[in-house]
Amino acid sequence: MKAAVFYGANQPLKVEEVPTPQISSGEVLIKVAACGLCHTDISYIDHGVPTFKKPPLILGHEISGTVAEVSSDVTNFKVGDKVLLPAVMSCGTCYYCRSGRENICSNMKMFGNDIDGGFAEFVKAPAKDIFILPDEIPLIEGAIIADAITTPFHAVKNRGQVKPGDYVLVIGCGGVGLNMVQVANAVGASVVAVDIAPAKLEMAKKLGAAATVNPNEVPDVAKAVRKLTGGGADVSFECIGNPKTMEVAFSALRNGGRFVMVGYTEHSMNLNASRVMYREMEVIGSLGCRPVDYPKVIELARAGKIQVAPMVSKRFSLDQINEGLDYLRSGEGFRSVIVP
Ligand code: NAD
Repeated sequence: MKAAVFYGANQPLKVEEVPTPQISSGEVLIKVAACGLCHTDISYIDHGVPTFKKPPLILGHEISGTVAEVSSDVTNFKVGDKVLLPAVMSCGTCYYCRSGRENICSNMKMFGNDIDGGFAEFVKAPAKDIFILPDEIPLIEGAIIADAITTPFHAVKNRGQVKPGDYVLVIGCGGVGLNMVQVANAVGASVVAVDIAPAKLEMAKKLGAAATVNPNEVPDVAKAVRKLTGGGADVSFECIGNPKTMEVAFSALRNGGRFVMVGYTEHSMNLNASRVMYREMEVIGSLGCRPVDYPKVIELARAGKIQVAPMVSKRFSLDQINEGLDYLRSGEGFRSVIVP
């Protein structure tokens, strides 16, 4: 089969012929319909963040497709079923899985990080981990549910505990942040969206943001947000991965507010410790999404309460994958997908 293979940082992915995965007991083979391009892929390629499996590795963790083959002991899927693969699979047996926190599983396996991912014609997965995609959700655009929508769902519902009427701040309106806006809006929050790209802010408004702020147009983003929210946001989400914007997300909160870190950075950030204590601030991390929440996200998308199709601004073939990565680096568009 054809795949885009990662051989190490600071070099383009190489599109080449590799063996088609062979399924074992409990597994299914999926013909990839689409695989989303995520900033996490850029962190391996451009910033030298190590993948858990040493290269060569097939990247890609937002995968949709159709079942092409099932192992003889698999009874819950059949050839032709339309499916969504979770970005990360959990073991089900470790301390975290047994306590309902599968998204921080000690033995988690992420597509395109621990195991080969979806920038390929085929990928294999355990049948116990995959989900049916209903007909109402377009198969190609539905791929982005696997990370760009499930991550915001977990962050908003479980980590941010956003309630109807809350003021929510989202800093960074890329693939993850725009969906944070949609999900927070769906649960009844008033959302202030921040991004340096006017087109992202326009999209945030279409997805329900009550107000937008462009850091290039105001001297102090945190102050502008405190003014828009009558004293500060109840919950803020940083969706870039920049220590400076994390500090802004924290400063823009009201007393007792909750700052949820979604963006990834290997650097440290500065927080005012006395403010955390004296004002009872909460600083919380959020990673991925638990399997138990995937059916809820799929249902929100099926019912049209969360939009999927307009979130995908471009499709690239496997041969165009490095062009697709450049498009992501350029900051243009919302989410783009590889269609092998
Ligand atoms: P993206 O590149 O699509 O989006 C980033 C957005 O931030 C862009 O719209 C850009 O214009 C904006 N931006 C950049 N600098 C800015 C600034 N100084 N002020 C305001 N806006 C600015 O990236 P993405 O795919 O949405 O990923 C965002 C982050 O989330 C990354 O760090 C990624 O690694 C992380 N991530 C985390 C999880 C998780 O489970 N926590 C899952 C997926 C991705």
